[in-house]
Amino acid sequence: MKGLVIKSTGSWYQVLASGGEVYSCRIKGKFRIKGIVSTNPIAVGDEVDISLEEDQEKGIITKLHPRRNYIIRKSINLSKSVQIIAANLDQAILVVTLASPMTSLGFIDRFLVTAEAYDIPAVVIFNKLDLFSDEGLEVLEQFEDIYKEIGYRCFRISALEGKNIDELRRNLQNKTTLIAGHSGVGKSTLINQLIPSAELRTGDISAWSEKGKHTTTFAEMLELPEGGFIIDTPGIQEFGVVDIEPQELGHFFPEFRERRNQCKYHNCKHINEPGCAILEAVENEEIAPSRYQSYLSIYHGNETRN
Ligand code: GDP
Ligand code: ZN
Repeated sequence: MKGLVIKSTGSWYQVLASGGEVYSCRIKGKFRIKGIVSTNPIAVGDEVDISLEEDQEKGIITKLHPRRNYIIRKSINLSKSVQIIAANLDQAILVVTLASPMTSLGFIDRFLVTAEAYDIPAVVIFNKLDLFSDEGLEVLEQFEDIYKEIGYRCFRISALEGKNIDELRRNLQNKTTLIAGHSGVGKSTLINQLIPSAELRTGDISAWSEKGKHTTTFAEMLELPEGGFIIDTPGIQEFGVVDIEPQELGHFFPEFRERRNQCKYHNCKHINEPGCAILEAVENEEIAPSRYQSYLSIYHGNETRN
């Protein structure tokens, strides 16, 4: 029987079978993935074959189907191994807020670079629209423009008031979408709007750490009423890309990608080379200064790490 892994808790996996039933399954045997050492062989979003045990209630995962893509993060304790967070994604959305809490442009850019490296389309959602003053709306517009201009879809919503949610709903329909963002930006509130039956706990930031909300780091797949799935990633704020070489970083900035061929040197790092088309575009304000700053910051970070 074929199924979709919708939740994993370490040793047990909830598998949604093609008939609509959900079975608790375990793994038998080894599932190795070429090239990586992972602490979890199967993740949310994986397509698997299961065979039911005699009681017809529990099952065993017998086969993992090839993944279209998957995202990982580095395991905290085991430096060389990674944790697979989710597989087979159609898109990833980052929920951000410009106030309470403020999401930095650097954080947004790192998320987008990661999504580019995984080749997963990324969407930016500006939440808490109801809190914006006229001045705030102007800043929002500027931020949105930075990302729209380089091809990212943006939404401005109020998860609390349900504003502009229908437009977002249409974008999510029949896709598998991962939702990420700092705690407190309103992910749970948004998911509750989209999927009323999810009934996720929401809270303000101060209560968050005290109550230990989201203590697990296991992602969960939630089915949208219109079709498609949301993957909630509680406790996971940042994803890792195993190997971005500093020289490759420019590939993951769309506005760099389209200009790279105009650099004088084909291996240009866009730092201080003469005849660099990227530096020229930054100077002419065709590339946003914040984006170039993020490039430098990731570049130097990766350089020291490697
Ligand atoms: P999460 O940590 O990302 O899941 O964030 P929550 O959904 O728990 O929301 C954190 C806090 O922000 C809660 O107090 C929510 O009520 C509040 N919040 C969420 N969305 C909005 C919004 O659109 N507007 C306003 N004003 N507050 C919001
Ligand atoms: Zn260059």
